[in-house]
Amino acid sequence: MTTTQMQAHPCPSCHAELSAATDYTGQGNKPSTGDMTVCAYCATILQFDDEMHLQVASQQALIAAPIDTLVELQRVRNAVLTRNAIQQAKDSSSAKR
Ligand SMILES: [Zn+2]
Repeated sequence: MTTTQMQAHPCPSCHAELSAATDYTGQGNKPSTGDMTVCAYCATILQFDDEMHLQVASQQALIAAPIDTLVELQRVRNAVLTRNAIQQAKDSSSAKR
């Protein structure tokens, strides 16, 4: 995994500050214009624009993406959503005590 620090930008969906992008492929890729990524907080699929700001990925971009990319994005989304669900369960169980 290669994590690239970048200028912090808010997620356009949940507004969490995003300041790094991680390549899970082991190929050492750094983010570039047009690349898609997943918000680590809300799991929205995002895309880097020409100025390397994050936008919600357009339907067109998702339709045009290779199937391998879509599978990988969904795998990462599932990991984020599962982590969030576990955290919510922990939070709600500790609130009941
Ligand atoms: Zn988000």
